[in-house]
Amino acid sequence: MLGNNQILPQQITDGKSLWVQEIFPTIQGEGPFAGHPAVFIRLAGCNLRCFWCDTDFESSQWQPSLDEIDEVVSQLLSQIKTNLIVLTGGEPLRQNIVPLLKHLITLRNLHVQIETAGTLWLPELGDLCRSHRSALSIICSPKTGKINPQLAPFITAWKYIIRHGETDPNDGLPVMSTQSSGTPLQLARPSPSDAPIYVQPLDEQGNENHNSKHMQAAAKIAMQFGYKLSVQIHKIARLP
Ligand code: SF4
Repeated sequence: MLGNNQILPQQITDGKSLWVQEIFPTIQGEGPFAGHPAVFIRLAGCNLRCFWCDTDFESSQWQPSLDEIDEVVSQLLSQIKTNLIVLTGGEPLRQNIVPLLKHLITLRNLHVQIETAGTLWLPELGDLCRSHRSALSIICSPKTGKINPQLAPFITAWKYIIRHGETDPNDGLPVMSTQSSGTPLQLARPSPSDAPIYVQPLDEQGNENHNSKHMQAAAKIAMQFGYKLSVQIHKIARLP
């Protein structure tokens, strides 16, 4: 997309069908479940526009019902051995994913990980987080200066994209806007701060010189501040 996506508002429907970009099996390459086989459900659309984002999340016309999603997920789970479902995007909390979460967690007994930028909230998500805490992980990768205060208490891990030369010497975390290139902005800091923090080098496709600097910066920051280095295993394995 590289900053060309539409900025779409949150759309809370009954959640019985969702706008989905794609559903695919892979290895979770990032964060606390790195290395685990997983079925990814990529929800379409995003409420942000990061200028370096290279993910295609809005070219699909697919609006499957929950039954249709379940059928695809079941088929993929018969091909790979895992109980991990990753809801990613775009921004998965832009749509009402609560009925899908309930279905996957309570009916199918699966573990769901949500990957979010942390700006949005869904009214029924709190109850589900409280009642199924061990079956639901929320990984927040802040792209703005503030995290939604209702979401914050349920965040289980933080992930920051590290660009060489654009981090705060006091905590190693980003100090530049993701929405406007070259604009200073302190991205939201971990709160609660007891959840693990992952630092992941920015991947500038085709620019190995820059990528090497981002990797060195992320590794150094991880060692200096006690964060965990996340290295996108799926890309090394040439998986989607
Ligand atoms: S929040 Fe994520 S999906 Fe949305 S534009 Fe930024 S990097 Fe891309």
